[in-house]
Amino acid sequence: MISHVAPLFVAATSGVVSVAILGSLLRAGIPGLARWLSANILTAGAFIFLAFQGRMPDGVSLLITTAVITYAVLLVLQGCRQFFGLRASHYRELAIYVALLACVAHWTVVTPNPNIRISVVSAFLLYVRVSFAWTVWRYRPRHRPRYGYDFVFWTALVEAAIHLARGLAFGLGWEHQTVAVIAPTPTNDVFAAMVILALPCLSVGIVMLAHDRMAECMERLATLDELTGALARRAFLVLTQALFDAAQRQRVVLSIAILDLDRFKAINDAHGHATGDAVLKTFAGVVTRALGRDDVFGRLGGEEFAIVFPSTTQADAAQWMETLRRAVAASALTVPGGELVCTFSAGVSEVQRDDTLADLMARADAAQYSAKAMGRNRVVVAADTAGSGSALNAI
Ligand code: GH3
Ligand code: MG
Ligand code: MG
Repeated sequence: MISHVAPLFVAATSGVVSVAILGSLLRAGIPGLARWLSANILTAGAFIFLAFQGRMPDGVSLLITTAVITYAVLLVLQGCRQFFGLRASHYRELAIYVALLACVAHWTVVTPNPNIRISVVSAFLLYVRVSFAWTVWRYRPRHRPRYGYDFVFWTALVEAAIHLARGLAFGLGWEHQTVAVIAPTPTNDVFAAMVILALPCLSVGIVMLAHDRMAECMERLATLDELTGALARRAFLVLTQALFDAAQRQRVVLSIAILDLDRFKAINDAHGHATGDAVLKTFAGVVTRALGRDDVFGRLGGEEFAIVFPSTTQADAAQWMETLRRAVAASALTVPGGELVCTFSAGVSEVQRDDTLADLMARADAAQYSAKAMGRNRVVVAADTAGSGSALNAI
């Protein structure tokens, strides 16, 4: 049989370590982290209190630690919901928590019945951990590496299984308990050891989630253009190069369009830079909503953008660009004093045998210049730019 103070110190120490680690991440402003941190502080405090509660009546210390630990477990669930952008607390759960404390007080002080008390507390902990696991499974971002999410999911489920087993063992009378806070029975030792091991595992998993959220923010900052949400130039060129190489290797077609907003300087001059920004944002929104699943949209700089169309001929890409041109020309932006319409000119080209990406982009760029020269607000296909260029539309 193990000493009962030692495991409490182990649990308290792991709680303090978790507090230190989560505390170091607090400045990252990750939703839910403050609740997770508070939960660990409460849990560590409860274990330290339990280790030192020698002179206090058992019933009182039991009530205090149950109240603190069950609330901490609820805080972990609330933090999880906040992390995924959901409403953190529900009145229903707080009411259940208060009812739980009333039951614990009743079966500890009024009609002492440790078996019922333990099974009721276990049922509450089971519900909270299963809700936690369900939330992680349901709201895990599918585009992120799944390791950390799987880790917390399974840890929460294992812990839920421990609470289920404990609740059944005491509820069905397979195991008996005295009113003592920690009765030294082998079953209790096993449950205590498992819970003490599961707690730091869950904290480690929570740290993994926090790190993944920070990594996602960094990746977003590094790859996406802040104003328009399009891929930033570097990320766009890296991805385009990879798609281009794959197309050349597999000898499949790929097209690229380079587009530039028309007379954008005049918009800035007439309405101000902020309105210019709003136009860029609206334009990018229209493009993003229209894009196909495999198409890649990037901002090359200023008011110049590019779209890669994998497995698409330049004729099809140009047709698609023509539809986009009409949609953009039709999406007016309300500004003080009226509505503002912005158009673009685009050049489209498809990959040729022995091309480099620079060759392909240069052809699309030349076509785009032709579109400007032809009067703007049009789409020109590169193959036809040798002469005067062929615009798909005529305005
Ligand atoms: P053209 O039809 O020949 O393309 O004419 P243009 O006025 O669009 O082209 P020009 O290159 O002369 O001007 C581009 C302008 O875009 C100048 C620059 O101040 C503005 N611009 C570049 N980036 C941004 C931005 O992020 N926000 C805003 N508001 N303006 C920008
Ligand atoms: Mg322009
Ligand atoms: Mg330009």
